[in-house]
Amino acid sequence: MNSGREKVVITGCRHYHPVEVRQGLREIFKPFGGIESVIGRGQKILIKPNLLAAVTPAEAVTTHPLVVRVLAEMIQEAGGKVYIGDSPGSDRQELAHRVSGLEDVMKKTGAEMLVFEKIKEVESTIRGLKAIPLAAELDEVDLVINVGKLKTHSLTGMTGAVKNLFGCVVGANKKRFHLEHPLPLDFSKLLLGVSLAVKPAFSVLDAVVAMEGPGPRRGKPRQLGLLMGSPSPVALDTVAAEVLGFFPEQVTTVAAARNFKLNGADPDDIDLVGLSIEEAKVTDFDRGPAATGKLGRLFALFPVAILKNFFYARRPYPQVNRERCTGCGICREACPTQVIRITDGLASIEHYECIRCYCCQELCPHGAIMLVNSPSH
Ligand code: SF4
Ligand code: SF4
Repeated sequence: MNSGREKVVITGCRHYHPVEVRQGLREIFKPFGGIESVIGRGQKILIKPNLLAAVTPAEAVTTHPLVVRVLAEMIQEAGGKVYIGDSPGSDRQELAHRVSGLEDVMKKTGAEMLVFEKIKEVESTIRGLKAIPLAAELDEVDLVINVGKLKTHSLTGMTGAVKNLFGCVVGANKKRFHLEHPLPLDFSKLLLGVSLAVKPAFSVLDAVVAMEGPGPRRGKPRQLGLLMGSPSPVALDTVAAEVLGFFPEQVTTVAAARNFKLNGADPDDIDLVGLSIEEAKVTDFDRGPAATGKLGRLFALFPVAILKNFFYARRPYPQVNRERCTGCGICREACPTQVIRITDGLASIEHYECIRCYCCQELCPHGAIMLVNSPSH
């Protein structure tokens, strides 16, 4: 499927300040003829941010609202009509919009919210994947601009542009996909299928403040001072992984894209504009448990998918921290295998049937799910 070169732009943006963010976004679109060349006048444009849950921008879990606001203004100045949409992992979408700052963005810019509720089946171009149930509301817009948050991820190593588009899969289908694709490489193949089905016109990564350590929900904000962009989500993730110091094999979306020889999966096929990898590279970035543990380093040594899956199968288990658990039940709702019980106000996990998708860890609002090699009961 590899048929050409991709272009990725890396630019500096030290702070979430409107002038700096606008300058950074301009730099990102400049090599493609400016945003006016990416969108058409009168077109309906969906901005797809990362909206994992109802958390404040300071926690670096979601795309910063200022990046979304400035992008929305630039689209409007270029003659586009802006919509903002996502299907967050938990919490109601309206609540997530309010707490994450997106409601304020919509008030200030007049952008409209697109609620993902209906489903349309889209045939996948990835070999071996069934039709993908995307949000039917995507048909109401002319094109999508994907704006991810650069973070570590317990399951896929890193979440950037490709993983962000999983939010275009509606509700319960996300759980089903975790059940049907429990291993990280296989799940990443599905993520690529979603990304190719959504076909965003452009992808931006908010790495002004990224997340390191045990992301995507409980890591630490880390100021990188970077914005990145590309028409190719795969190429953008390949470059972002290099900037953070991952082996390509440790970011399973990149590894899966290599297996399928997709455009942008090989750094040699990417033309970089702006900062070089060396200039942007973060040498002491904490790449989280998926990459820095003993097994994480071993993944890179095994090029054969079956061996990778063998090692991935030895990933850590989720464990409930009894001091922090409030018994809210959000993890139970999120668990695809229904192995979480709430008893006497505390969650407990039946590890025998746990597929280690880490949805519970991702969505627990109290940081009460830790990852351990030998869980106790
Ligand atoms: S582990 Fe977290 S999500 Fe689950 S019940 Fe406890 S506090 Fe709620
Ligand atoms: S307990 Fe957590 S990691 Fe295990 S299957 Fe359920 S949601 Fe996934």
